[in-house]
Amino acid sequence: MNRFLIAFIIIFNIFLIQIVPGQHAYASPIGKHYEYYIDSSKKLTIDDFLSGEFENRFTSIEENYPSFGFTDDVIWLRLDPKSLMKDGTNPYWLEFIDKVNHADIYTVKKDHTYTLQKGGISGVDQLVIDYRSFIYEVDTQDLEYIFLRLSGDMPLPVNTKFMSTITFIEEVAQYKYISGIFYGFMISLALYNLFLFFSLRERAYLYYVFYVMSFILFQLAMNGLDLEYFGNSVYEWTLINSISITACILYFFMILFSKEFLSTKYIMPRVNRILNLLMVLLFLPVLFIPIIDFKTLSDSVSLLGLIVCSLLWYVGFRLVSKGHRIARFYLVAWSILLLTVIIQALSFLYIIPYHPIFFEAIPEIGAALEVIFLSLALADKINHIKREREEAQRLLNEELERIVSQRTMELELANADLEKLSTTDQLTQIFNRHKLEQSLEHAIKQANDNNENLSIILLDIDYFKQVNDKHGHQAGDQVLITFANLIKELIPQNHIFGRWGGEEFLLICPKTSKEEGIIIAEYIRAGVESFNFPVVDRITCSLGVAVYKQGESTSILLSHADKGLYLAKEMGRNKAQVFDPLMA
Ligand code: GH3
Ligand code: MG
Ligand code: MG
Repeated sequence: MNRFLIAFIIIFNIFLIQIVPGQHAYASPIGKHYEYYIDSSKKLTIDDFLSGEFENRFTSIEENYPSFGFTDDVIWLRLDPKSLMKDGTNPYWLEFIDKVNHADIYTVKKDHTYTLQKGGISGVDQLVIDYRSFIYEVDTQDLEYIFLRLSGDMPLPVNTKFMSTITFIEEVAQYKYISGIFYGFMISLALYNLFLFFSLRERAYLYYVFYVMSFILFQLAMNGLDLEYFGNSVYEWTLINSISITACILYFFMILFSKEFLSTKYIMPRVNRILNLLMVLLFLPVLFIPIIDFKTLSDSVSLLGLIVCSLLWYVGFRLVSKGHRIARFYLVAWSILLLTVIIQALSFLYIIPYHPIFFEAIPEIGAALEVIFLSLALADKINHIKREREEAQRLLNEELERIVSQRTMELELANADLEKLSTTDQLTQIFNRHKLEQSLEHAIKQANDNNENLSIILLDIDYFKQVNDKHGHQAGDQVLITFANLIKELIPQNHIFGRWGGEEFLLICPKTSKEEGIIIAEYIRAGVESFNFPVVDRITCSLGVAVYKQGESTSILLSHADKGLYLAKEMGRNKAQVFDPLMA
């Protein structure tokens, strides 16, 4: 985007250098060489002026761009061309630059014979050369005077040049060169933004393209290129009103683009409604062309243009002062445009004196600068939107990560809870039978794989039924909890202890031989015997010890422990007994 713009700014500067006058042999305007006579009767003919009666009734003109504005009168201009025909070539060319209804010229010879060439929009098809202005061929042989007869309901500015063929060719070449750069620049910008629209799918780009294209149309009408290209093929009223019609189209797309670009619908809904109304109003002048005169039409279009441009400038100004960054370039663009439109409209309304620069150089430079700044504005907006989207994406990602890690943590906690719940005995909070069975399988596999010792001890509280009977079930529960906690204190850390069922408990002792198992069992028995239990005071337990033999099954090992326990009970309880099948 930036490289593209830099390239165009360079071209634009070349364009600026080219329009600085004095580089080529420009023909100068010849306003000061005329004298004028205002015919209010509208009845005078060339013969009246050649009769000598009006010889001294003409008034001389002081400025190079005289203008008679809107008038019902017929304006007669008399030009003594002799001092202007410097190089003695033949023919010379008279150029009448602005659009008027009737601009007829009479070339009068020394013998007072004359030829008439009709021009102006009504005579456009009779002109020798199709050009953006009215060109009359003037035979300089014995030339005495040139009379110009102007009339019509369009304003009557007089911007004329009188030049030799060679100067005329240079003029045309120069003009084509400058306007080629201008229109080339505008069309390139329109095309470039059309491609941007196709790739970005942002509607503001499409409206911008419409806007630039309508600016091109408007400028074509302003420069009279409609005369040059369509002079013979369209209705007269189209040529007369082309500036007003294209201005309406231009203002329409100006609003359409601004509405989209600034999102006025959401940011300034009331102004948005006014803009919608203005878009509808812009159709009215065009619809009424057949029944209203030129002045009413051009005045109302100029007024509408002033309102549209001022309002759009105001919208940009309000948004910038409210801190909307995207409106900055827009405001610059619109300030430039507004300035040129105001100058143009004021000169169109004859509030400031007519000068061709208001209709050529200023609006062209203004338009080129404006489209550059709007292009910048669009790029700036897209960057802004991109940054906002990236920021939103980043925040979203962060939030997602946060939620995911929180969920993971919750899940892990829930899993841990579940794991604990599934392996823990609810009353005593030690391992349950399910966990003990798993652990025993694991311990046996370990003992087998590593050829290690393994002992297990089955514990059963003595006469526990009596505890319940004497002190109640709840006290019994309390004893079971205290018993479990006590055993946990008495055993080594790597031993696995859990509730086997009822008042029976199992202790798995990895890497423990028969002798060590007996010592541990005896240690526990003594510990329980000497412990001071709440409520019941003293209780005892019996313990059955079994030692694992390689290849033995879990159930065999358990049954050996059970047998040991049975022996302990048999021997009067409060005993630790090992069951060894080899000794049995
Ligand atoms: P022995 O010395 O022969 O083991 O006598 P005992 O009374 O301990 O044996 P028995 O198996 O006849 O009784 C066990 C009692 O344990 C029966 C039951 O009421 C009680 N018991 C089992 N589980 C619980 C429990 O979770 N809470 C309470 N309070 N009592 C329980
Ligand atoms: Mg018991
Ligand atoms: Mg029991």
